[in-house]
Amino acid sequence: MDRKVYENFDFSLAIDALEKGDPIIFPTETVYGLGAPLFNIDAVRRIFSIKGRPTDNPLIAHIGKISDAKSLSDDLPTAFYTLAEAFWPGPLAIVVKKNEKVPSIVSAGHPTIAIRMPSHPIARALIEAFGQPLVAPSANLSGKPSPTTLADALEDLNGKVNVAIDGGPCDVGIESTVISLVHEAPTLLRPGKITKEMLEEVLGVPIALPPSSGPVLSPGMKYRHYAPIAPVRLVYKIEELQGPFIIPTAKSLYSQLRHADRMGMELIEIYCDITVQSDAALMNRLLRSAGQIG
Ligand code: AMP
Ligand code: MG
Repeated sequence: MDRKVYENFDFSLAIDALEKGDPIIFPTETVYGLGAPLFNIDAVRRIFSIKGRPTDNPLIAHIGKISDAKSLSDDLPTAFYTLAEAFWPGPLAIVVKKNEKVPSIVSAGHPTIAIRMPSHPIARALIEAFGQPLVAPSANLSGKPSPTTLADALEDLNGKVNVAIDGGPCDVGIESTVISLVHEAPTLLRPGKITKEMLEEVLGVPIALPPSSGPVLSPGMKYRHYAPIAPVRLVYKIEELQGPFIIPTAKSLYSQLRHADRMGMELIEIYCDITVQSDAALMNRLLRSAGQIG
């Protein structure tokens, strides 16, 4: 999709809704987002209530250009600019110290804020047209698989949101990588399409993983997540499959899980071959869907 196509797109319905504090559904390259103006506390509150999202799970700020990050943080380290220039626009959220203007409901009380510049042409044009950062968690009910099509978003949120923009299926299909720059070493809080190795190559230093004990650095990662209604069974040996099974890709996993639920499957078997096993981000979501981590 060419971004230019959307430069003259009429976002007036969406902008009117955002200005009134009404959350809207819009596509990003990762998954569909439920967007609201970051500086409008009532609108942000509505995001939590529409999704049934626990209020201790912070939201990611979505911006239209790198310099917009200055409206959210007075303390942007060199590594922030290095990463932003290498990977933005794209599926990477960078955690930095927040300034006092960022409402604490956005960061769930943390002194930090996760920031990302999405690459989806509609998301970019929308944020630019609105002119202010948006918070945009996935446009689903909390705990369910994230929506990668508008139909999947509406399956959960129909009747709760007045404006929704269709951008077709999402290219990436799983949530952004999250890296934190507020610890001694850059720390990978959530694996995604931008891998630990890619981040290390650009930063030139090793990336730490969150400690397995102690305070939770990435609050959202502690909930059961991305889970369909039916139990998920991950199978690593082809001879151990019992029935119809899914071969997942990052792009297709969530829509396959939703489809299996719509079909009334009682058990969702997923075959994790070597290719799947070597994809850290996909394995992370699979283990969460199966309730094996998180
Ligand atoms: P999502 O639900 O995909 O919009 O992503 C939100 C997730 O990003 C949260 O559940 C956290 O895991 C992570 N996150 C967002 N803000 C922060 C923050 N300030 N500090 C650490 N992790 C964050
Ligand atoms: Mg989500």
